[in-house]
Amino acid sequence: MFALAARSMGYRIHIYSPEHDAPAGQVADKEVVAGYLDLDRLREFARETSVVTFEFENVPSEATRVTAEETLVRPGGHVLHTTQHRLREKTFLKNHGFPVTPFQTVRSLADLNQAAGALGFPAVLKTAGFGYDGKGQVKVQCEQDLEPAWKKLGGVESIYESFVRFSKELSVVAARGARGEFKAFSLFENEHTDHILDVTISPAPVAPEIARQAEELARGILEALEVEGLLTVELFLTERGTLLVNELAPRPHNSGHLTIDACVTSQFEQQLRAICGLPLGSTGLRGPAAMANLLGELWSHGNPKWERALGDD
Ligand code: AMP
Repeated sequence: MFALAARSMGYRIHIYSPEHDAPAGQVADKEVVAGYLDLDRLREFARETSVVTFEFENVPSEATRVTAEETLVRPGGHVLHTTQHRLREKTFLKNHGFPVTPFQTVRSLADLNQAAGALGFPAVLKTAGFGYDGKGQVKVQCEQDLEPAWKKLGGVESIYESFVRFSKELSVVAARGARGEFKAFSLFENEHTDHILDVTISPAPVAPEIARQAEELARGILEALEVEGLLTVELFLTERGTLLVNELAPRPHNSGHLTIDACVTSQFEQQLRAICGLPLGSTGLRGPAAMANLLGELWSHGNPKWERALGDD
């Protein structure tokens, strides 16, 4: 979707991907299939580009460092480094004064018992790296849950977070240009099923003051992280009516897909504008909008009935 937005604005697209025939590769001018740590291929790729950006944050730091020696990398490797690791991310947020649920680092079962003693129950234990959509996380309700949770996550470095009693989950997709200009899309409300985004609606039905606070939090986070590009801030609105930051994603987000049809500028065009040093586009919402997140599993029993889906006007 990013590549399509870039193409429609006249850019040529080169894709670097460990997998052949990646979705972006299908519409790219050139697709390089090689591992993220194939540094020679990466250098060669980077030399042919004017700016490099990412589809997801779990790209090794070594790869972004080498790429940055050859070309512009936006957002910079420092943004990926912080946001690809939950402990670094939450520590960054806390140290900069952004509100997060209380958390502790867990590197052993003894640490886990200590964290549970300090923060209590219920809580969520999450692996520090490579987690998304509820993967690599377990809810713990009492002391008996601790050891099984530690084993289930494979005894790896983790974060113990107090469970948040929230009334809504929200997200802000926002962009910051190279000169510090900032624009956020209207606030999104996200409903999850089994920890996976199911439905997004915008504008989120919250008090205008909450929407304003959410945008200001996003502005502060993009500034503190010195983002040149687009970043999504996932938030909890607690039952007490306060906002907490749950996660950051340094890229377009599945909650932002409704911007394609519902906003003057899509999140993908906005990412393109931000990384290419163009003025940011209007984030105006043309009307109330909703997005249903349909996953590939729907195809497991054969193709959906396209005629029926497309015949529904
Ligand atoms: P994450 O992978 O951190 O985005 O978490 C996926 C989902 O799990 C979130 O969207 C929430 O629905 C839920 N969740 C994560 N962390 C917490 C928490 N500390 N308290 C309550 N629910 C959480």
